[in-house]
Amino acid sequence: MTIKTIIFDLDDTLLWDKQSIKTAFEKTCTYAGEKYDIDPEKLEEAVRIEARKLYESYETYDHTVLIGINPFEGLWGTFDDPTDAFQKMKEIVITYRKEAWTNGLKVLGVDDSEFGAELGERFVEERKKSPFVYEDTYAVLDELKDQYQLVLLTNGAPSLQNLKLEITPEIRPYFDQVIISGDFGKGKPDAQLFEYMMDKAGITASEGIMVGDNLNTDIKGSASVGMKNVWINREGNVNETDVEPTYEITSLTELLELLKKI
Ligand SMILES: [Mg+2]
Repeated sequence: MTIKTIIFDLDDTLLWDKQSIKTAFEKTCTYAGEKYDIDPEKLEEAVRIEARKLYESYETYDHTVLIGINPFEGLWGTFDDPTDAFQKMKEIVITYRKEAWTNGLKVLGVDDSEFGAELGERFVEERKKSPFVYEDTYAVLDELKDQYQLVLLTNGAPSLQNLKLEITPEIRPYFDQVIISGDFGKGKPDAQLFEYMMDKAGITASEGIMVGDNLNTDIKGSASVGMKNVWINREGNVNETDVEPTYEITSLTELLELLKKI
């Protein structure tokens, strides 16, 4: 069966989310270093650790795992989404942001919760101001858009994933369908989400191919419904999972060549 639909993951596949987060950390931590005699890099490291600890301690943690929302997304999202679980998260993230930064400062010997709260809010603004897209994202989407149906399948809170698409407005128009796990209630790799996506796109598994950077969500999930997949491994990571991607590429540009061959 020929492939007629390409399903793309968003974060770290089309958008360089890791770089956006890194930049927001660097800017916020540099600002902190102007007030206190602390190493910005050490602060970033401490806040990342403290944030993860707090995030895992909240009652909302299981829900974030189910939907696929990482601790650093929690540091800037509002989570103003309709379900009770998201509304709970909306309340918690206000404290979470403040505490993550306050605790990070404490690790470096600074006890200033007011400044921690300020840094928490500053990080939100810095992240919004730092959208990064891979250099070949638009060229590849331009090339594919008339030949294939394009579907975006992303894990996360609808409010946050939509915000990412608003601050990088060029992405959404390429896609015939945009599916966000938080709207469905379960995230990748859940097979039900892939079945829902195929239903929305009007395809069978053999008519689609999933492209994503995450073996445990994009690749595992698409394989679970019998769909071919492409692991985009830009950093040359070693696959230490038992998940076997159908194909592996190191850039989106390589996808164009690959699609001609299969
Ligand atoms: Mg991803």
